[in-house]
Amino acid sequence: MSNFYYIEEMLSLKEAEVTSLEMLEDKQILHLSIPKKEQCCPHCHTRTSRIKDYRSQTVFIAIVNDLPVYAQFRKRRYSCPACYRTFYPSLSFVQPYQRRSQ
Ligand SMILES: [Zn+2]
Repeated sequence: MSNFYYIEEMLSLKEAEVTSLEMLEDKQILHLSIPKKEQCCPHCHTRTSRIKDYRSQTVFIAIVNDLPVYAQFRKRRYSCPACYRTFYPSLSFVQPYQRRSQ
C-alpha cells in the first residue's frame, strides 16, 4: 500500500499508483506509475501487451489546499500484433480537455 493512498482514493486513480509527491511553492506534482497491463486493441479488439514506446505527460487533476495538483506519468503506447496499429489506452483521470503538453 502506498503512502499516498488517500490521494489515490480521492482522485480515484484506479490505473495508477503515486510514487512520489513533489511539493512546490505554487503547485504539487504527483509522480505516477502506471502498471503494464494487457490491452484490447481499439481497432480490431485483439489483446496485446506489446509496447511500442512511451510519452511523458503532465495533466492538471485537482485543486487541493488551494494549490493545483498535477499528475506526471509516462504513457505507454501499445502496438497491436494483428492490425499493426498503435494506441494509447485510455486513463480515467486524463480527460481530453485536460491535456497539456510540456
Ligand atoms: Zn488491432
